[in-house]
Amino acid sequence: MKKLATALLVAICVVAACPSSQMAFAAAPMVKTQAPGFYRLMLGDYEVTVLSDGTHPLPALELLRGDASEIADALHRGFLREQVDTSHNGFLVNTGSKLVLIDPGAGTMLGPSTGALIGNLRAAGYRPEQVDEICISHMHTDHVGGLVDNGHAVYPNATVRINKRDTDYWLSESNMRAAAPESRRFFTAASAAVKPYIEAGRLKVFEGGTELVPGVRAEPAYGHTPGHSMFVIESKGQKLLLWGDLVHVAAVQFDDPSVTIGYDVDAAAAAREHLRVMKDAATNGYLVAGAHLPFPGIGHVRASGSTGFTFVPLNYSALK
Ligand SMILES: [Zn+2]
Ligand SMILES: [Zn+2]
Repeated sequence: MKKLATALLVAICVVAACPSSQMAFAAAPMVKTQAPGFYRLMLGDYEVTVLSDGTHPLPALELLRGDASEIADALHRGFLREQVDTSHNGFLVNTGSKLVLIDPGAGTMLGPSTGALIGNLRAAGYRPEQVDEICISHMHTDHVGGLVDNGHAVYPNATVRINKRDTDYWLSESNMRAAAPESRRFFTAASAAVKPYIEAGRLKVFEGGTELVPGVRAEPAYGHTPGHSMFVIESKGQKLLLWGDLVHVAAVQFDDPSVTIGYDVDAAAAAREHLRVMKDAATNGYLVAGAHLPFPGIGHVRASGSTGFTFVPLNYSALK
């Protein structure tokens, strides 16, 4: 008691001696990093964890293909500028018997703004050696780079599954030689990303629409790349469509699904797929998720106007 009284007296004396300008406590330093990039939901019996690989600035006006003034208007309506910080999302599905990773991100291949997926996978309570299967939507660098680190397989026990049309296209030496010089890096990155898995006999190609793992089915959505595939996750009547790179800039392409992007290998086919898939999702009301929808990038699609759609992000729920 006596000690407490002494301490109080000292404190009062210190305060009294302090000019008011020095009395404030030091402000806590700002943290300036984003919160851990994972988001969890249950889909029937399955646990789905969205893993952020980071965000990457996308020059939307330069890369999107469509009416430039309408694209600029749509960006403005979305409170965005020409350069859009674009999410890169991967998805970890635990079916109870298999741990399936859909798109492992860019790894170290696109610089420091991406490559966070592996850290977020660990932060979400998993380890890379637990991953049994990896399904790749397509072989662009931001979807395959994370398979490797310095030439070594990041997922030592996983089988990698890719649509044959994409492996035929991106792993072809003659396609690489025929490509424009600025596009060749996509081919070399794709080859480097799958090399250790090919050497270990753990790259398995699939064709068309097919079940890859019980509860995980590939569905073709060709156009963005020759073998661009979506993955349908289904449990207890609940359905989630992981649609890969169907949409790059949500603020523009839901309003106008005919808008494509410079990375599309076949823009006309890509535009047809945008419309087909959005229509189906709006009609049937299932959940969709995209690699480049704003993190966590899960929600529903609603028809809006005569030709457009609206993305409705999933209501947040704290799992118990
Ligand atoms: Zn892509
Ligand atoms: Zn992508």
